[in-house]
Amino acid sequence: MVDPLFQAKVQCPCCERTFLSSRVRPSFRKAIRTDTDFMAHYRDDVNPDFCVVRVCPSCGYAFTENMKQELTPRQKEMYMERIGKSWVHRDYGGKRTWEEALDCYKRALLCAQTVGDSERVIAGLLHHIAWMYRLRDMKDQELRFLRYALEEYIHVYEREGKDINNARLMYLIGELYRRLDEPHEAVRWFSRIVNDKRIMDAAMIKASREAWHQLREEMLAKKMAMPEEAELL
Ligand SMILES: [Zn+2]
Repeated sequence: MVDPLFQAKVQCPCCERTFLSSRVRPSFRKAIRTDTDFMAHYRDDVNPDFCVVRVCPSCGYAFTENMKQELTPRQKEMYMERIGKSWVHRDYGGKRTWEEALDCYKRALLCAQTVGDSERVIAGLLHHIAWMYRLRDMKDQELRFLRYALEEYIHVYEREGKDINNARLMYLIGELYRRLDEPHEAVRWFSRIVNDKRIMDAAMIKASREAWHQLREEMLAKKMAMPEEAELL
């Protein structure tokens, strides 16, 4: 049988040494289903999400493809001072358990925060950590990290989203509000996507309508008042 994992050579943005990091072969990367906030589910034995974070065995710097691939001397220094100096050599290169994958995500989050990576990257890491907890049905932790991710996505939107076509980001904000049981906020975002004439992203418009229909059922079941924006959907 083919091993779903293979080793890819990567370079550490911090100490610049190269090392091998496991990746999942493309033929094993097919999701069996995807949640409404884009979390992909895979067959139990191979989860490509477990390999997203690369951890340098020499200095412990943890990073993803989306993170900065080059650090300034000052950023390297900050990493070493705050996190790197307590690193004990460890190789995360093989197959990771759920616990190890979660550690890697949290380590990447710390590194991203320490070197001041973008809000988008930080939001994505927080969202992935929430997904890790969802895999194990740890609802409180999942919601805690979804809340952090939501706050970051809103920062991203405020900084870059208002003027450009950012339907996917707006949809995610609405969807996380829905999952955090704030239906009125969720509807506000879904209706923006549907009603903003500049938005051409048909998939996100459709997803927003579907999310709204689901939300309406939930609100009717709880006998909640319908928000004004709902009429426009
Ligand atoms: Zn390194």
